[in-house]
Amino acid sequence: MENNEKTKPKYSNDEFLEYSRKIIAHPNYREMPDIFGDRGEIQWEAPSNRQSGKFQDTHHKRREWWRQKALSIGIDPSIGDTWISKTAKAIHPFGSKPCKKCGKILNIAYAYPNQHLFARIKRLPYIDDTFELSIIEHVCDLLNRLEDKFGPKIYNDLPILFATTSIIIPPLAKNLNTWKKFLMDVYIPEEPRMLSPGAMSNPPDRLDGFHSFNRCCRASADTGRTTENLRSYVTDRRVFEYWVDGDWVAADRLMGQVRSNSIFEQEVCFNTKQGGIHPKPCQADHIGPISLGFTHRPQFQLLCKSCNSGKNNRMYLSDVRLLIAAENAGERIISWFAKEIWDRRKAAVADAETALRLSKLLRDNRHTYMFLLKELLDRGFYTFLASLLHLQEADFNPEFSGLKARNHLTYFDSITKRPRTTKYANEQKARRIRIAFTSLADYHKKNNRSAFVIQNNHSEIEFSAGFKRLEILKSVTNDLDIKIAKIVGKVELSESDLRELARTLSDIMFSNSESFSSVQYHFDRGMVEVAKELDEMWSTDRYVRSAPNEIIE
Ligand SMILES: [Zn+2]
Ligand SMILES: [Zn+2]
Repeated sequence: MENNEKTKPKYSNDEFLEYSRKIIAHPNYREMPDIFGDRGEIQWEAPSNRQSGKFQDTHHKRREWWRQKALSIGIDPSIGDTWISKTAKAIHPFGSKPCKKCGKILNIAYAYPNQHLFARIKRLPYIDDTFELSIIEHVCDLLNRLEDKFGPKIYNDLPILFATTSIIIPPLAKNLNTWKKFLMDVYIPEEPRMLSPGAMSNPPDRLDGFHSFNRCCRASADTGRTTENLRSYVTDRRVFEYWVDGDWVAADRLMGQVRSNSIFEQEVCFNTKQGGIHPKPCQADHIGPISLGFTHRPQFQLLCKSCNSGKNNRMYLSDVRLLIAAENAGERIISWFAKEIWDRRKAAVADAETALRLSKLLRDNRHTYMFLLKELLDRGFYTFLASLLHLQEADFNPEFSGLKARNHLTYFDSITKRPRTTKYANEQKARRIRIAFTSLADYHKKNNRSAFVIQNNHSEIEFSAGFKRLEILKSVTNDLDIKIAKIVGKVELSESDLRELARTLSDIMFSNSESFSSVQYHFDRGMVEVAKELDEMWSTDRYVRSAPNEIIE
């Protein structure tokens, strides 16, 4: 038992320890010199600068081992200096390894996009900063996501995206599997400059011939400031996208279509009839702004870039009319936390001024809601927060048929939803949790400004009742809360952690659905009280006194 104790501590990360044990037991590394140190620990490292001691020559002995290994597999060690890393890649039995720092498993192959590829992707006309780019996403997964969001149009651009002087890309069928196969079988093995490896080789410094820290945890000229690059730039406005209701998968898909599908490219801006310059192609405008609590749903108004950014947090009379019509047709257009105030005042909107007035009421309602989310975040109720993210939508792959633009609006005939593979669904869920939580934390870090929070005695009572129930639920949510807290603390979760997270989350929510709904019931009632307060302020100066053209917030 003493021995056991001593072999462990050097590799704090369990996944890495297990990996190192598998490597030393593997026949490909047989007779590696000095595998164990004096105390029976694995000697993973063999630095070249050891000045003294029993293992002073381990580096040189291992270099000789690698030379013999190269010869045995037909690599000539007398030519050039790449023979040793070629050998390390050739004999690696798994093709992937965990990161010693965070446990994330990445391929040793050149399978990950780098700044060269990102620069080209960003130049595509339909890409904007809402499309997340990550240096640790396998290039095939990136391709999958590109196709998911922008459809077949990407196949016209892929040959340019992946072009290099050393690899000739043949004409390929325009589908995902053909391209994935080409990348895996031909492109990646060539180690093109558009891609980088998940782990850099460095024999004989490490026993397996690879750096202990993977691409996820290595800052280098290629990866830049790693942790920053892992996350997309999420603006204040985008935080709402994650915390409103709606089928976000279908909405994201349609947004991508507006940017890339020729059906929409020729449609002119909604405001064109008022004169002025409205350059094409248009952008997708949520008719009801998500920043006011409207849902992220698959219907958009087409606005040119400047009209879209000018609209900023407000509704026009025409927007309110469109929203009421959609609602009458059975659509859910408003999120649960804003429904009451919307229902109380939508019929009172008769002109530009009252449309703006309702926008301002909804903005303060949202401030109040963000404050509630902040309290949930501060008190560590992460599992409940995650239950608000509609993660189950990721289980389906929505497809639109009969997409069209009419009167500056997007329409489709029908939407079919096919089940997704679990792996892809889990990745999307984990991605959503990560961005939703980090953007919420960032939002509150930046916005300690004087938010106008509406409350009364009744709302306070309801909110505390919700919190009390969450305290009781802690016994079932605690483990998951801790896992999500890691994400909030910007710790990269390992692949298996993320998979487990997505799975346990839905299990816990399913088996405690009654408890979760009773929590939400109290918060819902609290927001109804907030709406009553706002409703009574409809004619007060805060909401009335302003010109209709005023930009709010
Ligand atoms: Zn790492
Ligand atoms: Zn315009």
